[in-house]
Amino acid sequence: MPSVKAAVLTAFRHPLEIREYPSLGEAGAGEALVRVEMAGICGTDVHLWLGQLAIPLPVIMGHETVGRIERLGAGLKRDWRGNPLSVGDRVTWASSVVCGECYYCRLKKQPTRCVSRKAYGISYCASDAPHLRGGYAEQIHLRAGTAIFRIPDSIPSESVVGAGCALVTSIHGLERAPVEWGDVVVVQGTGPVGLAALALAKHAGAARVIAIGGPPHRLELARNFGADATIDVAAIPDAADRRRAVLEETGPFGADYVVECVGHPAAVNEGIDLCRDGARYLVLGQYADAGNISFNPHTITRKQLQLIGSWGFEPRHVDRALTLLEGARFKELFAAEVTHKFALTEANLALETVRQWQSGKSVLIPDIGGREAAHPGA
Ligand SMILES: [Zn+2]
Ligand SMILES: [Zn+2]
Repeated sequence: MPSVKAAVLTAFRHPLEIREYPSLGEAGAGEALVRVEMAGICGTDVHLWLGQLAIPLPVIMGHETVGRIERLGAGLKRDWRGNPLSVGDRVTWASSVVCGECYYCRLKKQPTRCVSRKAYGISYCASDAPHLRGGYAEQIHLRAGTAIFRIPDSIPSESVVGAGCALVTSIHGLERAPVEWGDVVVVQGTGPVGLAALALAKHAGAARVIAIGGPPHRLELARNFGADATIDVAAIPDAADRRRAVLEETGPFGADYVVECVGHPAAVNEGIDLCRDGARYLVLGQYADAGNISFNPHTITRKQLQLIGSWGFEPRHVDRALTLLEGARFKELFAAEVTHKFALTEANLALETVRQWQSGKSVLIPDIGGREAAHPGA
C-alpha cells in the first residue's frame, strides 16, 4: 500500500519528524480524501510546538490548508456553499468540526465554544487511525461534517493560505465588535492576525488605522495592508513612550477602537491605555495561555469600555473570507504575504522562520518536487 509522508510533532520543543502513514484508499460516507497542495504555518503552530496548549502528541500540525479532492465518500456531493463537489476540485475547509447539538452549538449559538469541537492540525492524535488529520502531510482525511469549500478558480492558493486562519479569525472578531465608519483604529501586532484585522478595518470604513508591531519588514506589510501610520515596538520599547507616539496619531483622547493581535498578556494593559473613553477593545490574539497580568478593573468602569473576546471562527466566516479574496485587493495582498515556500522535509526550517518573524507567511508545499523551494534568507 502506498504511504503518505507527514511532518509530525512528537515531542514539544523537539524537531518535527518525517513519518509515513498508510495511504487511505477510500473515503467513508460523508468523508473526503484530499491531496495537500499548500499548508500554512500559523503562529499558533509555534505555540503548539512550544507546548503552550494541551494537545495529544503525536500531532500532524497544519490547520490552514488547500488541496485537491482525491476521493469523495458516499453522500458528499456539494460543498458547504452548495456548489457541486467533484474529484480534482481545489478546496479548503473550516479547520474545526463542531457537534451542532450541545448547549453552545444549539441553544446559545456559540459554536466556536462547542464542547466537543475538534480542530485539524491541533486536536487529533496522529497515532489514532486514520492518522492523517493535519496539513503538514501529503494527504489529509476530512471527517464527515467538515465544512468544505470549493475554491473559485480566480483565487490562487497563495491567497487562501496567505489569509489562513488569520483572516477568518479577524472576520469573526470584527463581527462581534464591528468597526464603525470613520473610526480611528489601533491594531496591536503586525503578525498575520494584525494584518488581516487592519485590512478589514480599512475595508469597513475606518478613517485611520495605526499599527503597532515589527520587525520593519512586517511594518512595511502593514503599510501595504492599509496602515496610515506604523509604530515600531523595537524602536520605541517603552510602553509609555509608545502611548505618546500613538496618541500623536489618534489625537489626544485615544482610539475609537483597539484590536489586540499580539498574544503577549502585557499588550492588554497597553491596549486599554490606548482606548478613548467609551471605546471598544477587541482581544483577539490571546489564543495560547501565556500567563497572567496585573490589571485594574476600575479602568473598565471609568472609561466605559467595551471589552470583547473572540475565539476561532465558523464556516460562514470562511465563506466571507473567500468572497473577500475574490476581490482584487484582498487577493493580491494576502498572496503577497506568502514570502517563504518550503518542502515538507523542511518543516522545521519553515517553523523556525515563523518563530523568528523572518517571513510574511511561510508555507509547506508537499510536492514542491523539482521546483526550487523559495525561502530568502531562511
Ligand atoms: Zn492558525
Ligand atoms: Zn457542540
